[in-house]
Amino acid sequence: MSERKADIAIVGTGIVGLAHALAASKRGHSVVLFERTPQAQGASIRNFGMIWPIGQAPGQVHQRALRTREIWRDLAPKAGFWLAETGSLHLAYADDEYAVHQEFAALAPDLGYQVTLFDADAVLTRSRAVRADNLKGGLWSPTELCVDPREAIAALPSYLERAHGVSLRFATPVHHIDLPRIHTPRDTWTVERAIVCSGADFESLYPDIFADSGLTRCKLQMLRTAPQPDDWRLGPMLAGGLTLRHYTAFKECQSLAAYARRITAEHPEFDDWGIHVMASQNGRGEITIGDSHECGWSIDPFDKPEIDRWILDYLQTFLAAPSLHIAQRWHGIYAKHPDRADFIADPAPGVKIVNGVSGAGMTTAFGLAEEVFAAWE
Ligand SMILES: Cc1cc2nc3c(=O)[nH]c(=O)nc-3n(C[C@H](O)[C@H](O)[C@H](O)COP(=O)(O)OP(=O)(O)OC[C@H]3O[C@@H](n4cnc5c(N)ncnc54)[C@H](O)[C@@H]3O)c2cc1C
Repeated sequence: MSERKADIAIVGTGIVGLAHALAASKRGHSVVLFERTPQAQGASIRNFGMIWPIGQAPGQVHQRALRTREIWRDLAPKAGFWLAETGSLHLAYADDEYAVHQEFAALAPDLGYQVTLFDADAVLTRSRAVRADNLKGGLWSPTELCVDPREAIAALPSYLERAHGVSLRFATPVHHIDLPRIHTPRDTWTVERAIVCSGADFESLYPDIFADSGLTRCKLQMLRTAPQPDDWRLGPMLAGGLTLRHYTAFKECQSLAAYARRITAEHPEFDDWGIHVMASQNGRGEITIGDSHECGWSIDPFDKPEIDRWILDYLQTFLAAPSLHIAQRWHGIYAKHPDRADFIADPAPGVKIVNGVSGAGMTTAFGLAEEVFAAWE
């Protein structure tokens, strides 16, 4: 076995590991990136590809999302993956949903969000994908970006290798970190520091830290249509009323409580399975649809067809796409902290765990990685 050297070892080629590899390289460090599978297969390739600043908590996390957005825009042409500056529309079909839109639009300037309150006509002018019947209005936000996560997460490692000289070690699980040594079945590396970005794997490295971390796992069911006919485009990414209950940003609105109470009374299944419904569309014309949230340390490996049905039924209350023929179904699992937007720990001198970015890793990882290095050096 050969012995190799780098300044920093990073474990995991999900978006969090890739973001830290980029931030470390930009600071002039040599980096080796380890991934246990032949290509990333975790949460980072299973998501909507939504870069979603509008949903993030006001202040630091929202600023982190805006910084991440800038980095995605910079990377797409350099790394050669598709990215669209679609913006987003939240849609209201009931007065209590529109009340939350109105309140959020009023608060937005002070909280730092760029949103515009639309009436129904303005929504329909912005998007031909939206159902007109009973539409009250919507919230337009220009800050959301869409990438195809499968394409972007596949393209970024080779870009990091090509542009920043990052060493890539796929199909190489890290079994043990004992700085300055990183032990893998393929070779041993000598490094100064290590960053563990292992996503929902809480067992392989530092299981004691994860056991006490407060982190849990969250499983989301997802669906994807075949490419839409005739090059039909979704335009802005869409979110129905239920999404108001999901993202932290809207917790600022007092009107949210009444809406949430109504949904709990009318649709307990949405509470039971954490269902809210959003749609994005990739460069090949496929619409990605989700999702549900089943959280716990132990995750049911099998999917529930009734969840897919509830998601699709709700989707059709606001989306009028030419075809909702479902071509793929899958689930993804992310690591979540109950009350923090990230989980950072120092399990040994020179080693950091960066995890717990919850349902927003695509939206926050690049900014978070810059913050981690700024605080560490
Ligand atoms: C269905 C779904 C939809 C989502 N939608 C969005 C969205 O639209 N926008 C958004 O911002 N966020 C979204 N998220 C959240 C986002 O996908 C996650 O926050 C993010 O992908 C987490 O990235 P990660 O790098 O921590 O984990 P992962 O992507 O899971 O990567 C962890 C990697 O570490 C590797 N690994 C673990 N242990 C080892 C080891 N010992 N040695 C080597 N390799 C190891 C794993 O193989 C894996 O590849 C969604 C998540 C899901 C599941």
